[in-house]
Formats: sequence, structure tokens, C-alpha cells
Amino acid sequence: MTLTFGPDRQTRAFECDCCHAPIERSWNFIHSDGAPYAVYFASCYHHRDRDHDAWIDVIFGTWGAGPDQWDDHVSFACRVGPVVGQDEPASTLVMAGLAHPDGPLFGRKLDREAALGHPRLPEFWQVSDFILENDPLVRGHIYGR
Ligand SMILES: [Zn+2]
Repeated sequence: MTLTFGPDRQTRAFECDCCHAPIERSWNFIHSDGAPYAVYFASCYHHRDRDHDAWIDVIFGTWGAGPDQWDDHVSFACRVGPVVGQDEPASTLVMAGLAHPDGPLFGRKLDREAALGHPRLPEFWQVSDFILENDPLVRGHIYGR
């Protein structure tokens, strides 16, 4: 399975509700062997009084098969950021879609427990690692510019 980005990466900056610091978000399709495979939203936070971290939502489902099919969509999310006692940033499963309204795109939003028991969890880690290493916004935010 070879992962690549779709052609239409988008970014947007807006203001944090809690501290008015900037939030930067990127989103795009991930393709697997050339075909649309998942959609992600990566939000990079610059809270004034907390760690710099990134929250990555990944949605799996059927893409581009005639009229949009949403009923098989399922979403996972993780937080990536500093962890006490570790040099490397760590990824932790969190409730999916927290920063996004409920809607058909996200489908079934998995919480941590549900994600841990879901058969697509290994695919989620593969996609989130790909985003961490290759999305310039996320990479810069987590690993330094
Ligand atoms: Zn904040």
C-alpha cells in the first residue's frame, strides 16, 4: 500500500476559543495506490498556556463511488504532542471529530475505547504517521521548522 496526498490540500488559520491564539488547520485526501482512501483534518494549536500539539482526524469510507456514500464512514483521531519523560512527541487516541460538527462526512466518530477495538486501527496509525512525516504544517509544528 503506497500512500500519497490528493491534489487539493487546503489550509486555514483561525482563532482558538480558549485563548485566541492562532490555530492552523490543513486537510486533504490521502490516496492509496492512486485511489482516494481517507480524508484528514490536522489542527495545530498554539495555546498560550499549554503544550503545542496537533490533533489529527482521519475519516475512512467509500469515496467517489457515484452519488456520495456516507453510511460506511468511520473516523479516528489522535493528539500528537509532548509527553512528560519522553524526548519524542507521542500520539494518543482521542475522541474523533471533537472540533467538527456532527455530519455525514465523519460518519461514526470513534472514541478511544471504540478505536482500540476497531479493525482499521492499524490503518489509522499508518495514515497518521504519513501525515506527521509529510504534511508540512504538521511536521513543522511537531518537529520544528
Ligand atoms: Zn487555546
